[in-house]
Amino acid sequence: MDERVHLNNAGAALMPDQVVEEVVGHLRLEARVGGYEAAEMAEARVEGFYTSVARLLGARPEEVAFAESATRAWELALGSVPLGAGDRVLTTVSEYSSNGMGLVKAARAVGARVEVVPDDADGVVDVGALERALDAGGVVLVALNHMPTHNGLVNPVERVGRLCRARGVLFLLDACQSVGQVDVDVDRVGCDFLTATGRKFLRGPRGTGLLYARAGVRVGEPAVVDVSSAEWVGAQSYRVREDARRFESFERSVAGQLGLAVAADYAYALGMEAVGERVAWLGEVLRERLGVLPGVRVWDRGRVGERSGIVTFSVQGVGAEWVRASLARAGVNVSVARVHNQVWEHRGLPEEVVRASVHYYNTEEELAVLVGAVAERVGV
Ligand SMILES: *Cc1c(COP(=O)(O)O)cnc(C)c1O
Repeated sequence: MDERVHLNNAGAALMPDQVVEEVVGHLRLEARVGGYEAAEMAEARVEGFYTSVARLLGARPEEVAFAESATRAWELALGSVPLGAGDRVLTTVSEYSSNGMGLVKAARAVGARVEVVPDDADGVVDVGALERALDAGGVVLVALNHMPTHNGLVNPVERVGRLCRARGVLFLLDACQSVGQVDVDVDRVGCDFLTATGRKFLRGPRGTGLLYARAGVRVGEPAVVDVSSAEWVGAQSYRVREDARRFESFERSVAGQLGLAVAADYAYALGMEAVGERVAWLGEVLRERLGVLPGVRVWDRGRVGERSGIVTFSVQGVGAEWVRASLARAGVNVSVARVHNQVWEHRGLPEEVVRASVHYYNTEEELAVLVGAVAERVGV
């Protein structure tokens, strides 16, 4: 079945034609003239990647790096943070589990400590508790997600940014679900690093991601260097690039990088404020319509009026995977969030929830198809 109601945008959104054309066009060029030669011919557009992403995020081109995934970008940023024995790293209960593993691994290696800041009554990071934890001293890094993958909440990242800035503490923001969904401006947020993936709300190709690294951020060398991020200057010595590209690898999908640039331009041209408003509105409409179905429970937390396009729910008496498979048969794409695999801490959520994630191109009619299909399955 080809025609689908696609409500798995938090997994991977649908690429616009322009993105597909860019990727396929470059692959065809590679096949015709050779990979290196094609890259040379596309050099100006590859450079354009940095300006396109910078414009979308309110950054400077030299603060942008391409990565093959958000997790890789995030790990690279973390790997450059000078962590020592007894240092404290703060994160939150809704943090993505890959990030959680990365933090624990990095902290264990040097005898640092990872502390999970509690959430508040709305389920977002408790900014007061975070402030107290910061003021207790010894914090080197705050690592936080903007929007978690398994829940509609939105963390108050600008307030976190102000706290970190005022104390000179590094702030690493996982903006995987928010870049392309809402207007994200690195100066307004006040983060030192930001990571995002191409395939989600940004509508870029799979196998792409990006890293923003603030110019002049005081960290060490990247954990990995190669011939593009550094220069071999002879016996036992090398020089690392100063811009954000010090985090890149030489080898990459040039087609993917070009496609991601087009996706960034596409998002920028649409206007991220309008996109954000529409996604938030569709999310609320869906929560409301699912919430009135008997036997359906919506699990999203977050401040009302400030939630994302990620809608999570469960259906009484049946598992999330059963709901997903049965919706797939009706041509509706949703996904299952296995909460333990995706977040640091669980906090009273069921082990599995159905996740429907809306994008601006979804329509109210499509939401009605989902709600109708769920209602049919719960027999209302
Ligand atoms: C998807 C996701 C990631 C991981 O992105 P990848 O590109 O798959 O590495 C990290 N954090 C959050 C919140 C996500 O939703």
